[in-house]
Amino acid sequence: ATPMSVIAGVGRAAELGVLVRDADALQRASEVDTIVFDKTGTLTRGTPQVSDVLVYGDWNRQQVLSAAAQLEQGSNHPLAKAILAAAPDLSDEPTKQFRTIRGKGVSAKVAGRTLLLGNQALLDEQQIDYRAAQEDIDRFAAQGTTPVLLADQRQLLGLIALRDSLRPESAEALQRLHQLGYRLIMLTGDHQKTAQVIAAEAGIDEVIAGVLPEGKAQAIAQLQQQGRKVVMVGDGINDAPALAQADVGIAMGGGSDVAVETAAMTLMRNDLHCVADALAMAGATLRNMR
Ligand code: ADP
Ligand code: MG
Repeated sequence: ATPMSVIAGVGRAAELGVLVRDADALQRASEVDTIVFDKTGTLTRGTPQVSDVLVYGDWNRQQVLSAAAQLEQGSNHPLAKAILAAAPDLSDEPTKQFRTIRGKGVSAKVAGRTLLLGNQALLDEQQIDYRAAQEDIDRFAAQGTTPVLLADQRQLLGLIALRDSLRPESAEALQRLHQLGYRLIMLTGDHQKTAQVIAAEAGIDEVIAGVLPEGKAQAIAQLQQQGRKVVMVGDGINDAPALAQADVGIAMGGGSDVAVETAAMTLMRNDLHCVADALAMAGATLRNMR
């Protein structure tokens, strides 16, 4: 590509709502065949809401919810914000030994009791029996909601189900990308079944779920080893290594600073149509130059 047409392409991308930080990325974008999307905050709004609370041990729903909220005070995960919003009357009981278990959940000491809150992998790790909740977990996941489990070190106490809805434009924007011929993949740390339901709503071809944060970049590298040229679209700190690994990283406009700094392109509006616009433009611009 000539320098002039690259400059023109960067300008045109800006008009379409995409800030191009790395001009070579336009050339690479014209060669891409696969688009990988982070789920939470990229395909979905990223502002989940608590939809249900179930109890299994000797605590009632209110106790489960407020203990969970107390644990989540130390976390800035979207699920933490949702749980805090659902439990407005937090006790001022101090939380000690707060810990984030990346891609799995959180743990802390509340009222002298070590509590865990997170996914099945977290409880598996601690060998806590959650068979009592298995049917409920499967049912919520099949509805596209994310089940999160609360336990102490001996037993399961509760389940909190969280629902995150698709961005209003996701399905339409992905349909356009399909028509442009791209293979569309979702990459997430969420429950496999939950992810599949959301993926079907969005029009995704393939789901890679249950991925730990450090596994996201590895998943991209595997696609590249298979000969694919990959765009990664993400918003979170967790997504930064994958955004860097991809042939073209695209950060959501409202995304974390780390994601924006790592990505070759940033959406100026939080609108997935901009991804379709920019990729179509990159292809067309380079075709004109040949
Ligand atoms: P995502 O790809 O959706 O950003 P994460 O890697 O952040 O996923 O988290 C994966 C899973 O780990 C979540 O779906 C949830 O079950 C659990 N988890 C992570 N952080 C928390 C938290 N702060 N509170 C409860 N559960 C959590
Ligand atoms: Mg995200």
